[in-house]
Amino acid sequence: MIRKRLTQKFSVVFPTRRQAWRWLLPILLVLLFLSTLLWLPWQTQRMEASERQEQLIADTLWVEQTIRFQLGRHEENLRQIASEILAGHLTEPRLRERLGTLVRTNRELTRIVQFDSQGRMVLSTDDEPLSLKDLSPESRLASENARKSQDPQYAQPASGSNSTGPATLDYHVPLQSGNDYLGELVASYSIPSILSEMVPWWFAQDNEISLTDQDDNVIEQRAAGGPGRNVYTHQRALDLPGVVLTLRTNSVKGEPKLLPSLLVGSVITLSLGLLWSLWALWRDINRRLAAEGALRQQVAFRTAMENSLMTGLRARDLNGRITYVNPAFCRMVGIPAEQLVGKLPPMPYWAPESIDEYNHRFTKVLAGTATPQFETIFQRANGERFPVLIFESALVDDSGRQTGWMGSILDISDRKQVEDLNRRQQEKLQASARLATMGEIASTLAHELNQPLAAISSYTTGALNLIDRHADHPEQLDLSMLKPALEKAGNQAQRAGHIIRSVHTFVKRREPSREPVTVQALLDNVLPLVELQARQFFVATQTELDADLPPVLADRVMLEQVLLNLTRNAIEAMQNIPPERRILRIVAERDAVTGSQPNVVIAVIDNGHGIPQEVSERLFSPFFSTKAEGMGMGLNICRTAVEFHGGKLLHADNPGGGTIFRFSLPILTEGMPVAGDSAIISES
Ligand code: ADP
Repeated sequence: MIRKRLTQKFSVVFPTRRQAWRWLLPILLVLLFLSTLLWLPWQTQRMEASERQEQLIADTLWVEQTIRFQLGRHEENLRQIASEILAGHLTEPRLRERLGTLVRTNRELTRIVQFDSQGRMVLSTDDEPLSLKDLSPESRLASENARKSQDPQYAQPASGSNSTGPATLDYHVPLQSGNDYLGELVASYSIPSILSEMVPWWFAQDNEISLTDQDDNVIEQRAAGGPGRNVYTHQRALDLPGVVLTLRTNSVKGEPKLLPSLLVGSVITLSLGLLWSLWALWRDINRRLAAEGALRQQVAFRTAMENSLMTGLRARDLNGRITYVNPAFCRMVGIPAEQLVGKLPPMPYWAPESIDEYNHRFTKVLAGTATPQFETIFQRANGERFPVLIFESALVDDSGRQTGWMGSILDISDRKQVEDLNRRQQEKLQASARLATMGEIASTLAHELNQPLAAISSYTTGALNLIDRHADHPEQLDLSMLKPALEKAGNQAQRAGHIIRSVHTFVKRREPSREPVTVQALLDNVLPLVELQARQFFVATQTELDADLPPVLADRVMLEQVLLNLTRNAIEAMQNIPPERRILRIVAERDAVTGSQPNVVIAVIDNGHGIPQEVSERLFSPFFSTKAEGMGMGLNICRTAVEFHGGKLLHADNPGGGTIFRFSLPILTEGMPVAGDSAIISES
């Protein structure tokens, strides 16, 4: 039990897990793909940023080197000139020219001044009178340091002479011979010019460049391409003797943009599309799986249903080729499905004697008009014949086009047997009923037969006496006297014979068969027996027949039985009424209320006690009787017999008291089948 449950559980869980894995992998792949798509532009941006930073560092380094190189070159020149002054190689005009050339060719140099040991100006490139004391305090400090150290020194940058002008950077070169201080050369740089002359334009275009002192105060700034964005920045110390300046660069470029928005947009749209299509696919596959499951269930259900069917099924295409048979059909005919499917007529289950009938029906099928329902005979594989009932219907595909025929086949052997048995029992019952009727009228019959027999006896005795009287003289015998007696005896014998014959035909068991018969002939046959009973109960019999009544199609004996039963009931119903009212009427007329078929209506009318409501309800039930010795089968048999003739047995109250039993019979018309319809009795 537990094991079974576990297996069930496993079988439920297993496909779910498998399904989950089937979906998890593509989803993971898609997520990986998406994250790669999103990571790539970010990574590219990062790389670009670090590339730009590196580039800025390299460029800043290069600019710093350039400034240092240029300043170094000037330092070199000035030191050279200083040493030449000390050696006394330079005349004043010559010095003035050298210094002048230096200032003219290098625009960052604003002027060069020579001071003597007292700090008085010896000469200057711009001839503006100046003494060492006029210099800025920073410059004077640098001069002091230069003298002490006997090495050239830069002064801290200072603003111009009137403290609003451009910042300047003084370079002091002491003129020292041994320990003797002979003065100094002071070269003044314009710091803005340093930035504008020594920094290349392409670099200045992309970066904000500034020089700061050691306290991070900005001395000078160049922002040709606009202010820096503080995204890419770098600083580099410009180490000069006596002063430390810092070169700061700040790129005007912002963060690199993520990939162009169109590209990002399309990547996102594509990813969303991909996700959506994956989801749609997943939904579609799920629906398909569900539909497939339902279909499989349906197929299993239908197969189980087909296999359990007792009705044979046979499908044929429009050419009459068998396309499908179910197990019940195979069992019925005893031929396996493989030998039937694909077969064209003649079919293996056709009985050779009925081939014409099958072919006739098959041509109708080919013409597209199959008989919807019919009975025929099939043959089993062992040659046994069996009756079948077939229902044909058109096979229509989903577009409404007919693709063939579907037939349901019922083996009706059992039903036929039951029907046969039923019919035989019905016949037996009728015969017994007739015998019973005869039993009831036997004494009357004996009495009736007694009369012709007594008459015959007396006629023959008379004839014998006559012969005896002329025994001696036979030639005197008048034969003409004998003839009437013998004729009468003959007539009486015929009458007796007639009665016996009618009893015999009435009682004899036989197959019902319909034939044209006149109502008059019917009555002629049955009236002697009716009157026999009528006389017994002192009932007068009257018959009223329409003139020129056409013959009806009927089974003579069955109708005689009906009439005999109805008249007997009528006579018995009148037992207790005054004798003058005991009248039995038999009326036959054409049906006044014409239906689709012309009929003759026969009515048996009595003036008896009538039928009360409670009796009326059970009148036709078998074995229902209100009589002490009644069998209760009479009316039941009458109704069966009348219905066999396609009519109805009805009863109504007689307005003058008593009952009227009425039934109709079809008038013989042209084209009406006359014989061979005995089977109908069992169906009705
Ligand atoms: P049974 O004559 O053996 O009783 P029936 O089937 O012929 O069987 O009749 C059933 C019952 O119907 C009768 O017992 C009787 O009560 C009633 N019945 C039949 N015919 C008439 C009639 N003409 N008048 C009154 N009652 C009738």
